[in-house]
Amino acid sequence: MSGEEYNRSDNDTLIVTDDREDRYSRLRLISWWEQDVIQSSSVMVVGVGALGNEVAKNLALLGVGRLILVDFDVVEASNLTRSVLFRAHDSGRRKVDVAVERIRELNPDVNVTGLHADINLDVGLGVFRRMNVVVGCLDNREARLSVNRACCRVGVPWVDGGIQELSGAVKVFLPGGACYECGMSEVDYRLMNLRYSCPLLRREDIIMGRVPTVPTVSSIIGGMQAQEAVKLIHGMTDSGGKVYNYSGLAGDFYSVEMPFRKDCMSHETYDNIIELDEGADTLTPKRLMEIDCEQNHGGEPGFVVLDRELVTCLKCPGCGIEREHAVALGKVTEDHARCAECGNLMMPELTHTIHSDDPIAERTFAELGMPPLHILSVRRRTGTAYYELSADSNKIMSSGKIFSEKF
Ligand SMILES: [Zn+2]
Ligand SMILES: [Zn+2]
Repeated sequence: MSGEEYNRSDNDTLIVTDDREDRYSRLRLISWWEQDVIQSSSVMVVGVGALGNEVAKNLALLGVGRLILVDFDVVEASNLTRSVLFRAHDSGRRKVDVAVERIRELNPDVNVTGLHADINLDVGLGVFRRMNVVVGCLDNREARLSVNRACCRVGVPWVDGGIQELSGAVKVFLPGGACYECGMSEVDYRLMNLRYSCPLLRREDIIMGRVPTVPTVSSIIGGMQAQEAVKLIHGMTDSGGKVYNYSGLAGDFYSVEMPFRKDCMSHETYDNIIELDEGADTLTPKRLMEIDCEQNHGGEPGFVVLDRELVTCLKCPGCGIEREHAVALGKVTEDHARCAECGNLMMPELTHTIHSDDPIAERTFAELGMPPLHILSVRRRTGTAYYELSADSNKIMSSGKIFSEKF
C-alpha cells in the first residue's frame, strides 16, 4: 500500500496523521517505540561483512545514536554481491572507512566510528562497557568467543548471527544467562585449538574458510539481529538465551533454548571497575600496582593479571639464541618470530602475570600490546580489583573519528 492510499478516507482505511512528521515519524507510530532511547543508545557492530553491512545499515536507518563498527579487512570484489554499503570503486579500501562514509550518508544523525581493528586483541573492554548492545557479525569461533568473554565481563548483552548458503541463526545472549561458550562443544574447542598448533603466527592462521552466502539470507539474519538489538535497547529481554534457526531451503523457522553451563569459563565478571585518569600509552604495570596499593590503603601489594598471554622472550630451538620480546601473543609478526641467525621459528615464553619487580613492569600497557580503554586486573589476597584506562575514552568515543592508525 502506498503512502497516498494510506491517507485515503473513502473506505475504512486508517487515517494516520502525525504533527511530528520527521525522519522517524513512522517508527514512532509503534506503541512501545522510544526513539529518544534509540537515539541515546550505543551499539557496536563487530564485523562489517555480509551481515555487518545489513546490521549497520538497519541500525543507522533506525537512528541509533552511536555506532561503532569494527573490522580489519579491506573491500574485495567478491563482497559486492552481499554488501549494500560497498561499491566496485571501494575495492582495496578498509571496510570500516567505507562503511562509516556510507552510514553518514544514510543518516547524518548517527555518530559513527570505525575501528580498523582485530576484535581478539585491539578493542579495549572499556569500549564494550560503554555499549548498550554488541552485535556479532562474525565468521569464526575465536572472534565470537572474544566478543562473548568481553560482553560477559562487563555485563553487556550481545546478539550473534551466522549464515551459510540459504540458512542462518541468530542467538541472543544476556548477562548472567546462557552464553556463547556455554554452547561450545569439545569439537568447537578442538577446531579452535587446531589453529594454535603453533602458538605464534596466529593471524596468518585465521584465513577463514570461504563460506558460501547469499544477500537474501544476510538480509534476513542481519535484519533479525538489528531487530533484537533494538528490542534489547528497549529493555525487552524475552529472546535472551534463545537461538533462532532459519532454513531457507526448507522454509523452516524455529527457536530453541540454549544450554547454560555452570562451570562455563566465560562467566567471570568485572565488578566495581575503577576509572583511572590514565591511558594505555601512559600507564605502566608498576604504576598501576602503586595505584592499587593506594586504593587498598597501603595493604599487601598485588600483581597484574592480564586477560591474554604475553610473550616475554623468544628462544630459538635451533641455535639456542634468546631474545627479549615483550608483546601480547598475537601481536608477534612472522619477522619477529624467525631467528635472525638460522631462520628457525622461535618458541615464545609466555606469562599472563606481571609483578612489580619484573623488568616489563616499567613498559607502558600500550608497549605491551594492550588496547586503549582496556580494563586491567590487579590481584591480591583480599580479591581482585579492576581498573579502566579511562583517559582513552575521549580518543575512541569522540564523534565521527575513524581509528585506523592507532590499531
Ligand atoms: Zn557461559
Ligand atoms: Zn636460530
